[in-house]
Amino acid sequence: MISAGTVDIVSRLPLLELEARAGLVKAGLFDFDGTLHAGNTWASVCSRLPDPQRNQEAEIRKWYWSQVHNGRPQTSLEDPDWFHSHMPFENQAVVDGAWVASDVHAFVQAGFMREDFTRVALELGEREGAVPLLRLMGERAIITFGLEPVALDWLKAHKVRAAVAGTRLLFDERGRLTGHHPNVVASSTKASAAKRFRELTGFEERELLVLGDAVTDVHMMTEGTFNVLLVPRRELDRKLQDYRENNLESMWDRLSAIVVSDSLVPLERFLFLARA
Ligand SMILES: [Mg+2]
Repeated sequence: MISAGTVDIVSRLPLLELEARAGLVKAGLFDFDGTLHAGNTWASVCSRLPDPQRNQEAEIRKWYWSQVHNGRPQTSLEDPDWFHSHMPFENQAVVDGAWVASDVHAFVQAGFMREDFTRVALELGEREGAVPLLRLMGERAIITFGLEPVALDWLKAHKVRAAVAGTRLLFDERGRLTGHHPNVVASSTKASAAKRFRELTGFEERELLVLGDAVTDVHMMTEGTFNVLLVPRRELDRKLQDYRENNLESMWDRLSAIVVSDSLVPLERFLFLARA
């Protein structure tokens, strides 16, 4: 463990090897929510919904997370909820996509306009060091289980360019939201988007930084990429509980380093110096 004041970089690799690996990094794949900023796109958009739709969305959210954390209840075929009371792991991508569709439907009903999503992007702010870290990479992509227009507006506001894979929203000529593109980006899509990035750029795995803040970001990580999990210090307890419940072991072998910090400056400095 390398400790520098209030920053810890934890790695199972020896420091020299970690630095040598970091020195090869030329391009980056980035999660968005919780990683490049400390906010949450869905929460920010949903906070703008009228009460009935916001409550319905909250019900779905509650059900989803209870499924992820609680497993299968004992039941019988007489129970009308015999199927709906559990979410099979194999069905999670379907559920993720349907949840996105359901939320977008609520946004359409609420009459959201293109500029509402711009306001959300401006509200999200920037994690300290996020933009310099993006700029350090020759090519970069944001891969998010959030919304494409929000990520694009965020990049524009911070004057930095990156490719984006996120759920695309569709608007009419007056800027009114009408729906979404069917190629929805959910947790498990992160792997496909990362693969597509490598195909299109030709970067080798060892030249790629993958940065995320949640177990779902493991989908973007391969054995050969430089994989960093960001754990914001002020969320340490909550995050550790989340990792325990969502099987951090499945991710641990792939992680090059865990950075415990509210800022991305230490990671940017580490990569910059390793390259030098
Ligand atoms: Mg995240």
